[in-house]
Amino acid sequence: MSSKSEIDKVRNIGIMAHIDAGKTTTTERVLFYTGKSHKMGEVHDGAATMDWMVQEQERGITITSAATTCFWKNHTINIIDTPGHVDFTIEVERSLRILDGAVGVFCAVGGVEPQSETVWNQADRYKIPRIAFVNKMDRVGADFFNVVSEIEQKLAKKTAVIQIPLGSEDDFKGVFDLIKMKLITWEESDQGSVPQYQEIESDHLENCQKKREELIEALADFDDELAELYLGGEEISQELVLSSLRRATTKEGLIPVLCGSAFKNKGVQPLLDAVVDLLPSPVDRGEIEGVSAKDNETLMKRSPSEKDLFSALAFKMTSDPFVGLLVYLRVYSGEVKVGQNIYNPLKKKRERIAKILKMHANKREEVTKARAGDIVAVTGLKTVVTGETLCSENKPIIYDLMQFPETVISVAIEPKTTADENKLLKSLNQLIVEDPTFQFKNNEETGQLLIHGMGELHLEIIIDRLEREFKVGINVGTPQVSYRETIENEATASHTYHKDIAGKMHFGQCQIKVHPMDHQSGVLFKSDLDKRKLPLNFQAAVEKGIHDTAPGGGLAGYAFIDLEATLVAAEYNEEESNELAYTIAASMAFKEACQSAKMMLMEPIMSVEIITPSEFTGEIIADLNAKRGKIMGIDPRPGEKEALKAQVPLAEMFGYSTDLRSRSQGRANYSMSFEKYEKLDENLAKELLKKRGIYI
Ligand code: GDP
Repeated sequence: MSSKSEIDKVRNIGIMAHIDAGKTTTTERVLFYTGKSHKMGEVHDGAATMDWMVQEQERGITITSAATTCFWKNHTINIIDTPGHVDFTIEVERSLRILDGAVGVFCAVGGVEPQSETVWNQADRYKIPRIAFVNKMDRVGADFFNVVSEIEQKLAKKTAVIQIPLGSEDDFKGVFDLIKMKLITWEESDQGSVPQYQEIESDHLENCQKKREELIEALADFDDELAELYLGGEEISQELVLSSLRRATTKEGLIPVLCGSAFKNKGVQPLLDAVVDLLPSPVDRGEIEGVSAKDNETLMKRSPSEKDLFSALAFKMTSDPFVGLLVYLRVYSGEVKVGQNIYNPLKKKRERIAKILKMHANKREEVTKARAGDIVAVTGLKTVVTGETLCSENKPIIYDLMQFPETVISVAIEPKTTADENKLLKSLNQLIVEDPTFQFKNNEETGQLLIHGMGELHLEIIIDRLEREFKVGINVGTPQVSYRETIENEATASHTYHKDIAGKMHFGQCQIKVHPMDHQSGVLFKSDLDKRKLPLNFQAAVEKGIHDTAPGGGLAGYAFIDLEATLVAAEYNEEESNELAYTIAASMAFKEACQSAKMMLMEPIMSVEIITPSEFTGEIIADLNAKRGKIMGIDPRPGEKEALKAQVPLAEMFGYSTDLRSRSQGRANYSMSFEKYEKLDENLAKELLKKRGIYI
């Protein structure tokens, strides 16, 4: 069906929102009105069709970015469902990478919550044009213009109000469309299926005219032609307003604002109209930049056209019980057909596409090809992982790899039975393909299997999926902070490895200097030797020895960070030197040097933002201080609220949502993301190590 539409009739959009703002409900209504979802799923009875995974239904939040295709007014709209929970910002990041535009859903009562700010800042980085939908106009306390001013203040965006509500709370009846200058209302009897357009009655006309003037004034800042007409006192046509608004939205970051109540079936069709009229098509987004796979450097561009060579980005993978591994692709250029070979330039492997599927919320449709601008799921791919490019073998291109944030929390798991043991690793390997932001590894000291993630909820969901989806019986420990290790001083050590292995002598000798580095620099390697002192393949073996050893730490098994290891001297003999010997010698020398350089523990510090009614601010600050937190700032927020910014060690933040709820009678909320690693206080470090039988 979609193949009929041209590329400029495609909209690839995300729906971004703070949890509870109504993203799921709005998406559901969109699918209902576009005719693809025939039964309205309500979030509260867990029937929402976008929420695929059981866990999401139970928690009432949307975590995976399922891509859903629907049709509106001769346009194809692909909705990439972006998650709202901060533990999953990586999912947001991934979906933002491949979107052309987005709808921000805000709650008319709650306004701009901290998590919306996080996501909006991310979308700014990707320069994604957006429109705002102020939802829940029917709720007690709904205040449309307050949300508009919060968007301007907190998100630093210029807005263009293109609708205003008729009534609010229980009295919310419809919206005034300031472009068409009509009142739109909805009937309950047909679940709001047919919006009723009416003339604006005289008692509202003056206000609507005033608001329309303001809209045109806002546009005049971006559009000289319109400004001239306006100043000349000429009538501005609907078409001119729309085209001017479209340009300012897609090119200048202006945010058109609409309103409604998804739950009460009001305002959704005009929102869809706005998606079509105001958000960019793949063509509007223009050429896409990547680098040549030949040298990883030379800039290359592809145009959003089926005539160009094929290129696509894999942005999501899921394992599907029916078809196996599903890879979601955003096709940037060219086209690809079922059965065709394509190329994975990073792995230098050819791949063959078995099936191409368009995913609708409640069914999948097999199609024969996908082309520029499309978002599809494909099967049959074997080598590709999330974030990788697929392209034609001719002039291969690589789009930039996504950066994954640090994992700061871990939990120990163990299989309940031997049968579970066999299943566990297989299942974890399958999960990691879908979600490369978590890791698992064996703790050599304790023999436990640890899974590392970005937050408590992230780990909970992984465990839940292991148990339910993969049916693995596991015992789960309590979540632990993922500490890191570093060194305080500089030190040097050398090691000689000289051994007879199976009748052959192995020789390697090197001297390694370790040196503390600035924050957030990982483990760096440098060599002071030229190839006459030590051949380059042995130098590479030394580097390998260090990079293999650093993740194991030296004090308590946490990975080293923020240090540089330098190869300062080495011995070498023609007959016996080999790479393995240098890797072992380097590993030993590195460990010994770190031992003498005074090792210490680093703990993850989180950046926390809390929005609370002012009456609870004092108590919340006192609590954060007791948690070793640093208050970085307090800003007043509308509605007698305050926004607190703080940096707090993750170790103190376990269970904070419950804690904050009880301190604020459930009225404060917070968002949290990883900020940096900082030295752990010596006494706390001693205590922590003592519990593990390590004395310093
Ligand atoms: P999400 O977390 O952003 O996906 O939000 P949901 O769509 O799950 O909605 C959260 C809650 O708000 C659910 O109980 C919805 O029924 C309710 N809700 C959503 N939209 C509206 C609305 O327009 N008005 C009212 N009163 N409630 C709504």
